[in-house]
Amino acid sequence: MAAAGPDDDVRYVPGVGPKRAASLAEIGIRRVDDLLLRLPFRYDDRRAAERSAADLRHGMEATADIVVESVRVRPTRRPRLRIVELRGHDASGPVRATWFNQIHLQRLLTPGRRVQLFGRVHRPGPWQSPEFRNPRYELLPAKGAESEDAAGVHSGRIVPIYERVGLLSPRQFRQILHRLLESDAAVGPGSLPASVAARLGLPERAEAIRSVHFPPEGSPLGEWRRRRSPGHQRLIYEEFFLFALGLLLRRREERTGRSGAHTFTVDDRLRDLVRRVLPFRLTPGQRKALATMAREFRSEFVMRRLLQGDVGSGKTIVAVIAGLIVTHHGAQVAIMVPTEVLAEQHYAGIRRLLRPHGIRVVLVTSGLPAAERRAALRLTGSGGAQFVVGTHALIQEGAKFHDLGLAVIDEQHRFGVAQRRALLERGGGADLLVMTATPIPRTLTLALHGDLDVSELRDLPPGRQPIRTLLREWRELPEVYERVRAEARRGRQAFIVCPLIEESEHMPGAGVEIRYQELSRGPFRDLRVGLVHGRIHARERERVMGDFTAGNLDVLIATTVIEVGVDVPNATVMVVEHAERFGLAQLHQLRGRVGRGEDPSTAVFVTGDRPGETARQRLAVLEQTTDGFRIAEEDLRIRGPGDFRGTRQWGLPMFRVADLMEDSDFLQRAREEARAFLASGESRTRDGRRILALVRERWGERFGLTEAG
Ligand code: ADP
Ligand code: MG
Repeated sequence: MAAAGPDDDVRYVPGVGPKRAASLAEIGIRRVDDLLLRLPFRYDDRRAAERSAADLRHGMEATADIVVESVRVRPTRRPRLRIVELRGHDASGPVRATWFNQIHLQRLLTPGRRVQLFGRVHRPGPWQSPEFRNPRYELLPAKGAESEDAAGVHSGRIVPIYERVGLLSPRQFRQILHRLLESDAAVGPGSLPASVAARLGLPERAEAIRSVHFPPEGSPLGEWRRRRSPGHQRLIYEEFFLFALGLLLRRREERTGRSGAHTFTVDDRLRDLVRRVLPFRLTPGQRKALATMAREFRSEFVMRRLLQGDVGSGKTIVAVIAGLIVTHHGAQVAIMVPTEVLAEQHYAGIRRLLRPHGIRVVLVTSGLPAAERRAALRLTGSGGAQFVVGTHALIQEGAKFHDLGLAVIDEQHRFGVAQRRALLERGGGADLLVMTATPIPRTLTLALHGDLDVSELRDLPPGRQPIRTLLREWRELPEVYERVRAEARRGRQAFIVCPLIEESEHMPGAGVEIRYQELSRGPFRDLRVGLVHGRIHARERERVMGDFTAGNLDVLIATTVIEVGVDVPNATVMVVEHAERFGLAQLHQLRGRVGRGEDPSTAVFVTGDRPGETARQRLAVLEQTTDGFRIAEEDLRIRGPGDFRGTRQWGLPMFRVADLMEDSDFLQRAREEARAFLASGESRTRDGRRILALVRERWGERFGLTEAG
């Protein structure tokens, strides 16, 4: 059979076969190219020569193939220290090996198994049998099962170590790759134009792939371990270049010319209306963002803008005024938010501002009674409603707009790219404004928002008092509650946030329903206390939120349904119980629920007693700074980029080789190269067109790319 090519099914790769192929497919390895991009996570130095047991001398680094006779675990005098002791042999004599605390080895290294040991030999006298201390090891197949000579692949060199994939052991995986890479046939042309590779000084793709798997003799291993060998760099650029092209193509496709119907200008009548609607003077940042948008509304291209600003910076009013420009011309505005609580609040607030001026605002959520929702959808479809505020229901319930001019997505980090697109599809050529209060680490901004233009609100509205942040332990709660009571006596209000709705075994005292019972009968007995969480009926929730906003409740006990958006300027205390259970960015958001009025406010983060050093360190970041960017970066640093939940929440793209956190400067550079590539004639050459086709294949769905090249 001809050697496997990059696009061939892995099934046909020697050593794989249908069963292993099926297990590989489960983890996304289907084609030969996928296999090649499964890089080692570690490299072991196994250059030490293979020796027979009898030849092992004290102090030497060596490799030995042995058969296990027995493994036992020996306690030591130190309570937490145990020693795993292996006895075995090869044809020339006995060998021993010992490890500290690796108890699982007892199950792995059963009598009769063949295993290869790498490490330093301990053998103080020739009469003693040689012993490996804490050696690295690798299981060997039964004798004769491995056809090729192991030396040169698995030992006698710097050896790649892989995660176990499918049914393949790390050793089998190495064997298969080694054989596959004996010819260049398996390596495809990749996604980097030759000119770019040359400019960046990168090796050929085949050489890159071969060297990241099997570092050549004399390689500075540090570079490989840091993923910075020339080969690694090439593969990282390959991946980022393709992604950057996707971002740029999306921008290009979206910034199409708009129809004349969607050109919105600002005249004196509108200026006058805005003046009458505005409840306060805009900050310079707000004014600048609006001026930029007004320019874009007038221009011939559609707007794709991100409004970024920390909690409380006043993004809502910017969206409302931008919306007025649009409705002034008879088009409609959709505002989509992630929670019903927030939708209800925006609806109430925007209606209060605009109703007196004859502008109709409707609410669309799935919690609404069917008849009301239908009525709202009808007004949306007929154009009778100018502002439509809603949750995901806006895209799920098939809301049809009469003429959507502006789509606003608030708290956009809670939405995926697909949802953004779904909303835009409700109106041809609509402008887009997405807003986020969770600043993401700067290193990720490009990957997430590279297809948007950005406006930032850096200043907070005037008159804000800084928020005091306190860390407290559970036993200090009485003092915390006293603070709440004192604020209530002064006519101020407080939030108490709990992590769960119902208590769980793992977190006693964390359920908001039980806490509500306890607190409203105990420390807050003489206060007016309300309860909201996601499972409370929409009607009831709306009533409670309304009461709290109107000042008819002193304390609101809630889950994180109030995390985003909720705006009650009279609230001055935010207490978060079991604070160690929350992400820092989330706590920062919660803290942003207070400090919105002119009174000094306090956020109290209460942990379980003795929260532990990491938790304390993490929370201390919140005491030190109110800079959302820094908090997001610290959060990510402490939790690590491997926190898949976090990345999914942000909708980060997934890469195979590249790492958004560690390799962000590569992305910057790749984007410059991608821009140059698109601008030059190179993208129209044959190879250029091939690369553009790859972009669509890999990123077309994420970026909604439709046009050819
Ligand atoms: P966020 O950016 O977190 O969404 P909001 O839009 O909810 O912030 O605004 C926070 C609070 O600040 C609201 O009470 C809002 O009315 C108020 N606010 C916004 N802009 C100004 C301003 N220019 N002057 C005074 N108060 C403002
Ligand atoms: Mg907001």
